[in-house]
Amino acid sequence: APSTDHCWLYWTWCVKMDGYKTVIDSLRASFRSGFSLPEQFRLDQLEALVTLIRENEKQILEALYKDLGKPKFEAILSEIDMVMNELSFAIHNLKTWMAPEYVTKNLATKLDHCFVHREPLGVVLIIGTWNYPFQLILLPLVAAIAAGNCAILKPSEISPATEKLLVDLIPKYLSQKCYAVICGGAEETKKLLENKFDHIFYTGSQKVARSILQAAAVHLTPVTLELGGKCPCLIYGNLDIKAAAKRLAWAKFFNAGQSCVAPDYVLCNREMREALVPALRQALEDFYSPRPRECADIGRIVSERHWTRLADLLQRSTGTVVIGGETDKEEKYIAPTVLVDVPETDALMEEEIFGPILPIICIDTLADGVNFINAREKPLALYVFSDESKVVTTVLEQTSSGGFCSNDGIVHMSLPGLPFGGVGNSGMGSYHGRWGFETFSHRRACMLRGWGLERINVLRYPPYTEGNLGW
Ligand code: NAD
Repeated sequence: APSTDHCWLYWTWCVKMDGYKTVIDSLRASFRSGFSLPEQFRLDQLEALVTLIRENEKQILEALYKDLGKPKFEAILSEIDMVMNELSFAIHNLKTWMAPEYVTKNLATKLDHCFVHREPLGVVLIIGTWNYPFQLILLPLVAAIAAGNCAILKPSEISPATEKLLVDLIPKYLSQKCYAVICGGAEETKKLLENKFDHIFYTGSQKVARSILQAAAVHLTPVTLELGGKCPCLIYGNLDIKAAAKRLAWAKFFNAGQSCVAPDYVLCNREMREALVPALRQALEDFYSPRPRECADIGRIVSERHWTRLADLLQRSTGTVVIGGETDKEEKYIAPTVLVDVPETDALMEEEIFGPILPIICIDTLADGVNFINAREKPLALYVFSDESKVVTTVLEQTSSGGFCSNDGIVHMSLPGLPFGGVGNSGMGSYHGRWGFETFSHRRACMLRGWGLERINVLRYPPYTEGNLGW
């Protein structure tokens, strides 16, 4: 008998040969048959995902370690628990989300039933990326299942261990009639995108997002784009500098800086910088010891290509390294690094860093900081650190970003009540909690009318007279 690996390769080859048509057609047939619609079916699938995670936690942690050297604590917090929390939130709220939403009526509709019905979109495509390779596929899947859709999942090829695990586990636990996993990189995804889907949910870079939009335009497919950008952290006014340094360092160096919502750069005045750098140095030493490379709590860069991009950015930067700076290609290691005297035109300010490198840019006033942010594309997250509520409110009111968090970083995305998504170049649409359910649902306007009061309708039928309008 062929090994699991052989079966998998054969299956991948088969679905590639017909441009993925067979698999999409079969999911579409399931959707049309109403298979994925019943509330109980959705709950069963969500429960099956809970079981998948419970029974395979060890393998999930191993895959994440293989792909990113992800520390166990970070993997549990940001991948496993995130999905578990989302599942439990969806399971508990599904009935409420699915219920018809009755709307206010007027005199002319008093006898009608007027409500918004959330209906699933159909067969949706979920394309993930590699930095949180488990969570970024499964969180949208939870929303797609809750909303009653069938789904094709396309994990990132850059994190192959997690990709392989998803290919193995999803068909074992979820209905194969409704959900399928497809593997591959750019070429396979392009081929996949030639097919018609009812929604495309894409997480990744702005560059690829443009091709996704172009492919979607051919079929007029709606899309959600979860992208990135340079997330600023503005530090201003009075604050507890030690606590600020710890929170900033944690948010920045979590997952070795490979988070879409990681603070990308710091904006502060010179006086603040003088206090911040030693506080950051101390925080990093407390977190990762004086030899972070030997510390199990700092992850690795996902691939040699991504490591080379970061090492190159560091080399091209004209800033001064004040913390870290060590790199090791073989280990795909980059030390938690902080730079000062980084000019606005520096290599580090050209694109999203997406690694453990933190430039500090000096500004003089709060208004300078706000102007610096507003002169650039709208970020996915914006952080402001200050003890002064006026500073926080000013930045909140005078800027725009996908999400906003004061006096901490990345934690705002863990609350399912808050929508997670970008604005402008950092993305379109949102998910998490009910927001994900809404993303994968169509809000159908329903008016159920009977045959009563026909005598009143006479007023609107031709021949029209001005008297009918009550003039
Ligand atoms: P990427 O765009 O290269 O890859 C993402 C997915 O797209 C992968 O599944 C890949 O196989 C596929 N892909 C790659 N090239 C393609 C092409 N030409 N046509 C069709 N599909 C293609 O993503 P990346 O650069 O590795 O991801 C990093 C970016 O993702 C960063 O900007 C980061 O901020 C962002 N990100 C955003 C979120 C969020 O939730 N908003 C989360 C994680 C990462």
